[in-house]
Amino acid sequence: MNFDLTEELQMLQEAARDFARGQLAPRAAQADAEESWVGEQVKLCAEMGFLGMAIPEAYGGSDLGALGTSLVLMEINKACASTGTTVSVHNSLTSESLVRFGTDEQKQRYLPRLATGEMLGAYALSEAGSGSDAGSLVCKATRDGDDWVLDGTKLWISHGDQADLVVVFARTTPDGGSRGITAFLVETAWDGYKAGKKERKMGLRGSPTVELQLDHVRVPGANVLGEVDQGFKIALALLDGGRIGIASQAVGIAEACLEASVKYAGEREQFGKTLGEFGAIQEKIADMATRVDSARLLTLRAAALKGQGRPYGREASMAKLEASRNANWCAKEAVQIHGGAGYTREFPVERYFRDARVTEIYEGTTEIQKLVIARTYLR
Ligand SMILES: Cc1cc2nc3c(=O)[nH]c(=O)nc-3n(C[C@H](O)[C@H](O)[C@H](O)COP(=O)(O)OP(=O)(O)OC[C@H]3O[C@@H](n4cnc5c(N)ncnc54)[C@H](O)[C@@H]3O)c2cc1C
Repeated sequence: MNFDLTEELQMLQEAARDFARGQLAPRAAQADAEESWVGEQVKLCAEMGFLGMAIPEAYGGSDLGALGTSLVLMEINKACASTGTTVSVHNSLTSESLVRFGTDEQKQRYLPRLATGEMLGAYALSEAGSGSDAGSLVCKATRDGDDWVLDGTKLWISHGDQADLVVVFARTTPDGGSRGITAFLVETAWDGYKAGKKERKMGLRGSPTVELQLDHVRVPGANVLGEVDQGFKIALALLDGGRIGIASQAVGIAEACLEASVKYAGEREQFGKTLGEFGAIQEKIADMATRVDSARLLTLRAAALKGQGRPYGREASMAKLEASRNANWCAKEAVQIHGGAGYTREFPVERYFRDARVTEIYEGTTEIQKLVIARTYLR
């Protein structure tokens, strides 16, 4: 594998870095403290073409490819993980669902608006009783003539109160298990769609996570995504790509931890020396840097495979597993290097510590990534 990024990818990375530093980082602490939606930041991402990364140019997208998307997500998340979650879900779980599984008509209808950010996308799989075991979901869809009628409650839906188009997974065959689930393209303006309770979260506080109530939402047959009863395969296929997004997020957070730690270790003095002169701190910095790199390499490998159209599910899970664990480790050490200051909101590492935590939970927990990886060896 060639590890050199092309000149084009390097330029993209630099542009994303400058943008994230200049536009997202200065707003991140406030959005976190006020738990306010990062809508303005998402609009700025749209102006950069970052809401159309998964969409072909023919539909108005920037079509940055899997590697380009991963690099951009690393930079966005280094500055603001709440914005990063929104952009990742919109690209890898909503836009990509249409690109990969949509009909020509569905693509024409939605992709141009998703590409510009005129429509924001979300993804609704989880329910109160079905998280890791998503195949046991109970939200139901009943056929009524050419339409389907959706009833039920979804939980944990990222920006479900801000989105315009949601990929909703619902049960179409009562006893069909994971084979009785269908994916629907649901416009949030339709009657019966309601965003309910907003979770009070540890981190990612600028990214609202809400309950969705679906009360007799009438969905035209033309908005079935893929085949009836085949939605679970779509859900899992999308999560493979989404996991590269979350791995990229974790790399971004870990890198932010490293950068903040290096800066602090060079400035803070104790016993007449900077912290960076102590062997114990050097060891932490070395371990952090190595973990950032190992996570980055696994993530770029998964993205490269995806971009080449080769199988990448196992590699995406490995990247997410390693990157999310490393981000949490780096965040813990970053707080430690900052001492008492790291425990306060005066320094961003406190936010990184809280934001990193969820990367081991959503889009498949650490335990589920291990199941996915082990299964590919033991089968
Ligand atoms: C901030 C946030 C945003 C989210 N956004 C979305 C979203 O946009 N759309 C969406 O659909 N969902 C979303 N989710 C839901 C997320 O994907 C789930 O929380 C996740 O899949 C875990 O499900 P759960 O919370 O029900 O935990 P559970 O499945 O109940 O798991 C609890 C614990 O048991 C472990 N466990 C479960 N099964 C096994 C097993 N077989 N072997 C070993 N250990 C196991 C888990 O690893 C975990 O440690 C979001 C969650 C959060 C916190």
